[in-house]
Amino acid sequence: MSISKIKSSIRDILDFPKKGIVFKDITPVLQDKDLFSGSIEIMAQKCIAWHPDYICGIESRGFIFGAAVAYKLGIGFVPIRKPGKLPYNTFVKEYDLEYGSNTLEIHKNSFHKRAKVVIIDDLLATGGTAKASAELVELCNAEVAGILFLVELSFLSGHENIGKYPIESIIKY
Ligand code: AMP
Repeated sequence: MSISKIKSSIRDILDFPKKGIVFKDITPVLQDKDLFSGSIEIMAQKCIAWHPDYICGIESRGFIFGAAVAYKLGIGFVPIRKPGKLPYNTFVKEYDLEYGSNTLEIHKNSFHKRAKVVIIDDLLATGGTAKASAELVELCNAEVAGILFLVELSFLSGHENIGKYPIESIIKY
């Protein structure tokens, strides 16, 4: 599967969910069996180099790609969720958005000590979501081996904002 084929299927939705945002809609990638399996194949190949023990997916589109990659690699999947969704003991991280703030949670006992974890989300924008997720993984005494995205909006400097963690993305704008 060529990356340009996946890229050309991603749809721009203007003014969603708010005025001024150009939303990158990845649902056409999921809908097409070849694009979906091709993108999982490419993402899984990127992950292998990091030798992860677990994949962590960020709610909610990170669950779709993350769970499929974890299945492909034969390793466990851990969800990072919006507040109030995880039923057991959690670590909580609040982080700033351009306007307001967001919160994410992870189950405290998600990993064995010093496990290597790859975090997956569909898209990197400013990087706040991924950085908070990496900090949650570290609170669990695990190591962030890498952070992987299907799409990166390079002009928002998310890569720089995330800082010290290894980052890869398949498609860049
Ligand atoms: P950020 O924390 O700014 O990097 O935002 C990343 C999160 O917001 C990801 O979970 C994305 O799914 C979502 N997101 C942010 N901007 C967009 C966009 N333009 N199109 C689609 N999803 C977006």
